[in-house]
Amino acid sequence: MANQYLRQVEEHGKLITKALNGGEPSSSILKLLGDLKGGVRANEELLRQTRIGVTINRLRQHKDPAVAKMSTELVSKWREDVGKLKKSKPSAAGTPKTHANGTSSPAPPPSGTASPAPSKRKHNVDPAKRSHKTDKIDYNVTGDLTRDNCIRLMYDGLAFMSDELPDEILGTARNVEAAAYKKAGSTSDAYKQKMRSLFQNLKSKSNPGLRKRVLSGAIAPERFVTMSHDEMKSDERRAEDERLEKENMNSAMVAQVEKSISKEFQCSKCKQRMVSYSQAQTRSADEPMTTFCECMNCGNRWKFS
Ligand SMILES: [Zn+2]
Repeated sequence: MANQYLRQVEEHGKLITKALNGGEPSSSILKLLGDLKGGVRANEELLRQTRIGVTINRLRQHKDPAVAKMSTELVSKWREDVGKLKKSKPSAAGTPKTHANGTSSPAPPPSGTASPAPSKRKHNVDPAKRSHKTDKIDYNVTGDLTRDNCIRLMYDGLAFMSDELPDEILGTARNVEAAAYKKAGSTSDAYKQKMRSLFQNLKSKSNPGLRKRVLSGAIAPERFVTMSHDEMKSDERRAEDERLEKENMNSAMVAQVEKSISKEFQCSKCKQRMVSYSQAQTRSADEPMTTFCECMNCGNRWKFS
């Protein structure tokens, strides 16, 4: 059931983006929003995975007030859905974690379980303490003392916080050193400086993604040794941005909606002061804004300008 929603929402998100980029009339977008409103019960995982909240939130600034209004309503509804789920089952983690076949990437592990389960570990030394010493590595492989010491350095950088097997790490360390040596042409000061810089970046606690990507081969040794400190940093920043975006998407969405719920307005039907509103410039800039209201208590809707 969850998968069905996921696919449906993903598909609609794509169609909406396409309609926007293609300059399609508001009516197409309204139709898609209407489908979402009627057919989808939101939960946090769904919102995160499909990133639909980001798409819909943008639409709240749409120039067509009808689109802006419908998007706002949709966000309110989803916010309620998520709120209800949280209240009714505190163990929201109990929702099935299966995914649509091949259409979505697997969910990231829940925060707080960063280190792999001991049973899955490929290597038994405490990852925080790993080095050429704990792993009893013979790094004297090139016949050149300086180069061998640099391989040792790369090994220590790559092994830190890793659970890969020593042979794999040593292989990568050798490849990185060989690439750096080839590029420098000798064991010059520039070469040594480069190796120290690579080591520091590999061991950086704030940039674990770099180490993993070098070890997995996602960053080839030849590429790695040409990366500037800034490029490695930007990798770190990108990973951090992605993480923050995922974590904050839902809360950001909620925050925006809450901002637009006002006690200033009173519902004429139920007399409650729980009115969600959004404003839009309907015609030209010198005409007054139109305010669209929805009572969060009884659902009554109205507008004024
Ligand atoms: Zn009302």
